[in-house]
Amino acid sequence: MSAAEDYRNQITSISYRNQAFIDGKYVAAASGKTFDCVSPIDGRVLTKVAACDQEDVDRAVKAARAAFESGKWSTIPPRKRKKTLLKFAALVDKHKEELALLETLDMGKPINESLNSDMNAVVNCMEWFAETVDKMYDELAPARPDSVSLITREPLGVVAAVVPWNFPLLMAAWKYAPALAAGNAVILKPAEQSPLTAIRIAELAAEAGVPNGIFQVLPGFGETAGQALGRHMDVDMVAFTGSTEVGKYFLKYAGESNMKHISLECGGKSPNIIFSDVADLDRAAREAAAGVFYNSGQVCTAATRLLVQEDIRDEFVEKVAKYAEAWAPGDPLDPKTLMGSMVDKTQMERVMSYINIGRDEGAKIAVGGTPARQESGGFYVQPTIFDAVNNNMRIAQEEIFGPVLSTISFKDEAEAVAIANNTIYGLQANLWTRDVVKAHTVARALRAGTVNVNATDGGDITAPFGGYKQSGIGRDKSLHALEKYTQIKHTFINLR
Ligand code: NAP
Ligand code: MG
Repeated sequence: MSAAEDYRNQITSISYRNQAFIDGKYVAAASGKTFDCVSPIDGRVLTKVAACDQEDVDRAVKAARAAFESGKWSTIPPRKRKKTLLKFAALVDKHKEELALLETLDMGKPINESLNSDMNAVVNCMEWFAETVDKMYDELAPARPDSVSLITREPLGVVAAVVPWNFPLLMAAWKYAPALAAGNAVILKPAEQSPLTAIRIAELAAEAGVPNGIFQVLPGFGETAGQALGRHMDVDMVAFTGSTEVGKYFLKYAGESNMKHISLECGGKSPNIIFSDVADLDRAAREAAAGVFYNSGQVCTAATRLLVQEDIRDEFVEKVAKYAEAWAPGDPLDPKTLMGSMVDKTQMERVMSYINIGRDEGAKIAVGGTPARQESGGFYVQPTIFDAVNNNMRIAQEEIFGPVLSTISFKDEAEAVAIANNTIYGLQANLWTRDVVKAHTVARALRAGTVNVNATDGGDITAPFGGYKQSGIGRDKSLHALEKYTQIKHTFINLR
C-alpha cells in the first residue's frame, strides 16, 4: 500500500472535534449554527463546525476574565506555569501525526510539510516560550538612591488571537505560546477555512493542566466571531495575523470600543533581488522558485517580486522556470508532493483572476497560468511565472497569495532599492550578492522587518518577525514577542 493510500485509510476513522471549546468543555454554538469544513484536496465536506458569534464570544470572554482574575494562571509560580506549558507542548508533539493529517485535509498543504515543517515548528515555538516563563527578569530604575523604582511587566488579561489559514496551527502558536507564557487568558479564533487543529489542541491544553477559561477556541466567521472579539469591551488585546484590509478593521474596532491593544501581522509583497555578482546563480534560482511556490504561494513573506539585474535576466528566468517544474501540484497526501492545493475554491479563483489581470496588463506568462488536477475535485493552480512585469502593474503591487511570480528587471543598486521599496508592504526582502558592502548597504536601505542575504527564509523562533509599513504593527517570535503580551508598571517606593 502506498503512503497516500495509508493516509486515506486513516481518514475514514477520524472522529473530528468540531465544536467550540469554552470554559473547559466542547460545546455547540449558542445559536446551534454550523458551517461546512471543506477539504480543498478533493472538495469533500469533512465535518460541520460550530459557527460561533456574539453570544459565544460573550461566554468565552466572561470565562476568560474570571479565570484570569482568579490568579490560577496569572499569579502561580513561574516554574509551575512553565511545566504546564511544556506538558502542553509535549502532548501536541505526541499527537503531531494526527494534527498534521488534520492540517493537510483541512487546508491542502502537503503532508510532509504539515508533519515535518509545521508541526515541528509549532512544538518548538511552544517549548521555546514555555522556557521563557522563569527566565524573564524585571528592572530596577537608576532613580534617587533613597528610593526603589521598580519596572515590572504584568500580563494584559484577556487576549484574543485571530489567525489565518495558511499555517493554521503555527500562526496560532506564535500568538498563544507567548501570550500564555506571559500569564494571559487566550481566546483563539481560527480561520473558517482551517479550524480543525485549533479545536483539537484545546483538549490537549486541558489535559496538560491549563486551567478552564485560560485557553479557549471559538471557530466561526470573521465578520461575526472575529468582529465580536475585536469590539468586546472586556478583551484587552487582539493579536491578529491576516490581510492588511482586515488588520485595519481591528484598529477601527479598538478605536470604537475600549482602545484594546492591537498587534498586526499582515500582508506582504516581498522583493527578491538578484544582483549579477551572485555567488551561485543556480542556488539562487532554486530558492527563488521555492520562495514563491512553497505552500502554494500562500505565505505572507512569499518572494513574489523577482528583481533581476538586466545582464543576467534571461539566463536566470530560464533557470527559475526549470526549478518551477518540481513544484507542479500533486496529491497532498503523498509524502513526495512539494506543492498541494490552494486553501479553497475562492482562493483558487482569486489566483486565476490575478493571472488574467497580469495577462491583460501586458505581462508575459513564461510558465504555468492554468488550474491543475481538476479531475480530483480539489482546487489546484500550476506554478506560474510572469516575465516583463512592470512594478506598477497590479500583479506587482497587490498580494495574490498564490503560486505566481512577477519578474522585473533593474539596472543598478539604486534602481533595485527604489523598486523594492515601491510597495505599501514591508514584511520581508531578500537580496543575493557576493559583495559584503553591497549586502549591508542595500539591507539598510530596504524598508522591511526582515532582510535575508543570500537566502529567502532565514526565519527562526529566536528572531523577531513582523512588518514595516502596512505589513503590520508589533513582532511575533523571539523575546520581543513577549513585550506585546505584557504591560509595564512602574512602582516607586520612597525610602525617606
Ligand atoms: P483574512 O481574511 O484577513 O483573515 C484572517 C482572520 O481574520 C481570519 O480568522 C478571518 O476569519 C478573520 N476576519 C476576516 N474578516 C474579519 C472581519 N471583518 N472582522 C474580524 N475578523 C475578520 O486573511 P486570510 O485570507 O485568512 O489569510 C491571508 C492573509 O494573511 C494574507 O494577507 C497574508 O499575507 C496574511 N498573513 C500574514 C502573516 C504575517 O505574519 N504577516 C502570516 C500569514 C498570513 P474568517 O476566516 O472566518 O473570515
Ligand atoms: Mg478547510
